[in-house]
Amino acid sequence: MPTTVKAYAAPAADQPLAPTTIERRDVGPHDVLIGITHAGICHSDIHTARGEWGEVPYPIVVGHEIVGVVEEVGSEVTEHAVGDRVGVGCMVDSCRECANCEKGLEQYCLKGNTGTYAATGRDGQPTQGGYSQKIVVTEDFVLRVPEGISSEQAAPLLCAGITTYSPLRHWGAGPGTRVAVVGLGGLGHMAVKIAAAMGAEVTVLSQSLKKQEDGLRLGASRYFATSDPDTFEQLKGSFDLIVNTVSAKLDLDAYLSLLAVDGTMVNVGAPPEALSLQVFSLIPARRSVAGSNIGGIPETQEMLDFCAEHGIGAEVEVIRAEQVNEAWERVLASDVRYRFVIDTATIG
Ligand code: NAP
Ligand code: ZN
Ligand code: ZN
Repeated sequence: MPTTVKAYAAPAADQPLAPTTIERRDVGPHDVLIGITHAGICHSDIHTARGEWGEVPYPIVVGHEIVGVVEEVGSEVTEHAVGDRVGVGCMVDSCRECANCEKGLEQYCLKGNTGTYAATGRDGQPTQGGYSQKIVVTEDFVLRVPEGISSEQAAPLLCAGITTYSPLRHWGAGPGTRVAVVGLGGLGHMAVKIAAAMGAEVTVLSQSLKKQEDGLRLGASRYFATSDPDTFEQLKGSFDLIVNTVSAKLDLDAYLSLLAVDGTMVNVGAPPEALSLQVFSLIPARRSVAGSNIGGIPETQEMLDFCAEHGIGAEVEVIRAEQVNEAWERVLASDVRYRFVIDTATIG
């Protein structure tokens, strides 16, 4: 029997989130039923619910930074047991057979991965995310949350953590590399912590110096305001890797000028507007511009284990469900330190 659970949903693009109920599918042989305890608020939740990335099925329950406890497992489930603390990130399924899925790069599934929300599940119904009491997910897309990270600090790792860990690993952040993180929000603060733990020299490029003390405490050795034109002059040609986490349009040419020879600017921030650049921002120093999408399931587990080993969790402000609309406004105003996490026990 499907289970009816309480949730917070966006009824339409221009309406605030409101309490509702949704159905979770029956637990199949390979499924895990998770009692959600915490759900992080990602800026992607806002882009999606407000229709900024395209049409979505309303009402929509967003949330893809999910931590909870296993309440029931299907007859064939071997990896997870009742009582385990587990996590679910941005995907709940993929084709499992294409060349990318075979390599553990389910986020680049050639048939398109199934997003945790706003996608179509195998049952033909729209998927609904983590701002809810329970979720049913196929076992292969359920992660183990290691001991040593609290559930509220672990939830944001399932998106903000993996989205920054994956490009930092791919582009070789480590001792001797100079990494700049643009934007100190949910993704940005995880990028700083993880890059520092990998041994890189980390610089924060933020709109102002308001969060400078935090940035240095989180692991950066330098912090600059991008509102100050001197910043771009002073840092010209000085980074091997720039991780852009900004949710809005940015002057790419200005940031590309900060890359050293062979440097890469990887964009994880996903504003709805197009970004443009001059090829002459790339040519004079063999620079690259790139993008990166979350991370695969094996790499997400690797990231969780890495964070546990290095004592890394997100810096969170835990809120009650009824504060979610206010929290969204604060995210939009860049007033988040550094991830809001919903205590889902307060839903309904
Ligand atoms: P967030 O917490 O709102 O952080 C974004 C930060 O960007 C802000 O804190 C702010 O930092 C900076 N910023 C905001 N508006 C700006 C503007 N107009 N100009 C310059 N800087 C600005 O958001 P998030 O949850 O980290 O997500 C960031 C972006 O990544 C979103 O677009 C989200 O959809 C995307 N995302 C992508 C992936 C992926 O797989 N590629 C995964 C998750 C999220 P300062 O105050 O320090 O300047
Ligand atoms: Zn996200
Ligand atoms: Zn695939």
